[in-house]
This record gives sequence, structure tokens and C-alpha cells, in this order.
Amino acid sequence: MKIQSDVSLQPYNTFGIAVKARLFARFDSVQELQELLQMPELAREEKLVLGGGSNLLFTKDFAGVVLQNGIKGIEKVSETDSYTLVKAGGGEVWHEFVLYTLQHDLGGAENLSLIPGTVGAAPLQNIGAYGVELKDIFYELEAVHIETGQVQTFDHAACGFGYRESVFKGELKGQFIVTAVTFKLQKKHTLNTSYGAIQSTLEEMQVQQPTIQDVSRAVCHIRQSKLPDPKTIGNAGSFFKNPEIPLSQYESLKAQFPDIPSYPVTPTTVKVPAGWLIEQCGWKGKVIDNYGVHKNQALVLVNYGGASGQAVRQLAYTIIDSVAEKFGIRLHPEVNIL
Ligand SMILES: Cc1cc2nc3c(=O)[nH]c(=O)nc-3n(C[C@H](O)[C@H](O)[C@H](O)COP(=O)(O)OP(=O)(O)OC[C@H]3O[C@@H](n4cnc5c(N)ncnc54)[C@H](O)[C@@H]3O)c2cc1C
Repeated sequence: MKIQSDVSLQPYNTFGIAVKARLFARFDSVQELQELLQMPELAREEKLVLGGGSNLLFTKDFAGVVLQNGIKGIEKVSETDSYTLVKAGGGEVWHEFVLYTLQHDLGGAENLSLIPGTVGAAPLQNIGAYGVELKDIFYELEAVHIETGQVQTFDHAACGFGYRESVFKGELKGQFIVTAVTFKLQKKHTLNTSYGAIQSTLEEMQVQQPTIQDVSRAVCHIRQSKLPDPKTIGNAGSFFKNPEIPLSQYESLKAQFPDIPSYPVTPTTVKVPAGWLIEQCGWKGKVIDNYGVHKNQALVLVNYGGASGQAVRQLAYTIIDSVAEKFGIRLHPEVNIL
């Protein structure tokens, strides 16, 4: 394993921010990762594990060592009459895993088609889209403890999944590197087509009795028409989480802003789409020099080329302040700001 110095991270983050890592190494197996963690020259270095770099905003050079997860492989582990357990390497591209499930006619991952990034990063923020979250198909994961190099298995309960949250973003933040994830996928499919434009897209596609493959195609179509492709415009998807607020606060806002949308979460709380709040503050489509807010999706901050991470972070905080001032709701970034 080669440890490189002063490596540009621009190709490794979908925002396309030009920063450098002082040290950079890639691992392709658990053993290689353990060897890296044992190297005396890396012992004291701050460590950042990198997947596809699609949920990161770098605001400065990284002074420690960036460890790029290259662990590949997808395999069937076991099966019953109703489900199959499939294990995927942490460095596997998420959508490659989804394609595997579709090829093997295993249901559950189709609504999560085309989310950028790696399998290993997916449990960190319990990725979700179109009414499905990773936790709905998760079985267990293996992770290497950075301090000791030991492999530990985490079952569903141990991961503490929440909305774009897990124990790995909370109390165990920065302590583990996810090296493999096992998923529980259904042989008999229960489709979830009620969310967003899936149903209407299937109708446009003239699909009468959709399969999981059809749902995946519909999701890919919607995503490609709605979200900017990081290959052409730098971005990290939704920059902010949708805030959850008390029902009482929502009701008083509704008196003032009758169009305010919401989704019930519990009997006493609702979620409000952050994109709507940002749009109401006039940010949608705003361009400042070479960065701004995407013209079709106010939740997505974009780098049109050459923007600094500090400038994008400043924009994010200005948006947070303006939403707080107008609605009394404080947004929180979904993207990891470094
Ligand atoms: C266009 C676009 C659309 C998106 N749409 C969605 C969406 O619909 N739903 C959604 O939930 N997300 C979405 N995202 C966000 C992103 O795809 C996910 O958060 C994804 O899981 C990030 O994976 P990654 O490998 O790129 O992680 P990275 O950006 O490389 O890393 C993110 C964080 O996880 C840590 N990390 C990475 N790998 C590991 C590992 N193996 N072990 C421990 N820690 C690790 C990193 O250190 C970092 O803190 C979107 C992003 C983009 C650019």
C-alpha cells in the first residue's frame, strides 16, 4: 500500500472543491486497512475515511491521512423461502449493489436506486429516498475500530438508525470504518410507489403492473430529471435535512403561511420540506460568483466551478439564518462539513 503526500481531493468529492490531503492511502481489504492503521507513521494522524465523496464539503486542506475505501465484492450469504441475505463490500458503489438486487430479483432496494456513494457510507446517514430508508433493508454491518484495528459486527439495533442519522454520526463518530454491510432482501416484493412522482412516472412509462425493475427505472428517471449530475455541476445532493417541528408550531405557521407543506412524523410532530422554506426566502436559483442554489431544487447548493468550500459553507449559514428569521425554524446541514 502506497502512502501518497499532498494529494488533490478535487476528483474525490462531488462538490469538486480543490483541496489537498497531506497524506492519502487506499485499502482494498480489511487486512490492508488493519495494516495501515498499525503503521507507526500514521498512528498520530487524524483519519478521514472516504467513500465516493458525495456527502462532504471540504472547507480546507485535510491535515491528516485520507483513507479511501476500495473494498469491493457482492455475494449472497444465505436464504430462506422469503428472503435472501446479501453482503457487499464497504467500497462497493451503492448503485452497483442496487443493480445486483435487481438482477437477482430481490426486492427492497429499488427506491434507493442511483443514490451516489458507497455501500460503507450508506448506513452512516441511513440514506433514504422515495419513502424507503437503508434501515428498511439493513441486516448487519462489519466495521473496523480505528483505535484497535478489531473487526466488530453491529446489528440493526446497535446502529441506532434515525432520519439521516446513526450511531456512527453520533456517539461513535470517527471511531469505526465500515468494511461490509449485509442486507435482507425480499423474494416476494412489496412495492412502494406512493411517494413523490413514482406512480405518475410509471403511468407515463405505460407500466400497468410494475416490477421492482420498473420502479428502479422510474426512480432513475425522476432523479436524472430533477437533480444536477455532479459530473457536470458540483454538488452533494440535499445540503440540509428536512426539519421536524412540533405540531403546535406548524399550526401557527400555517395561519401565517397557508401553503406550508408538511408530512406527519408522530402525533405531535411534523416534517416540513427544507426546500420549500429555502425557496420562500428567495434563494432558489440564486447565483453568487461561481456557486449558488440550484435552479430546480432549492435544497441543493452547487459549485459551478472553482468555488471554495468556505464560500459554500458561508452561503449555507446565510440560508440557515434567513430561514430562521422568516419561519423560526433552524435548518441543519445533512452534508458533512470539514
Ligand atoms: C446528486 C446527489 C444526490 C444525493 N441523493 C441522496 C438521497 O437521495 N438520499 C440520501 O440519503 N443521500 C443522498 N445523497 C448524499 C450521498 O449520496 C450519501 O450520503 C452517500 O451515502 C454518501 O456516500 P459516500 O461514499 O459518497 O460518502 P462520503 O461523502 O465519502 O463520506 C460521507 C461521510 O461518511 C464517512 N464515511 C464514508 N465511508 C465510510 C465508511 N466506510 N465507514 C465509516 N465512515 C465512512 C466519511 O468520513 C464522511 O464523514 C446525494 C448526493 C448527491 C451528490
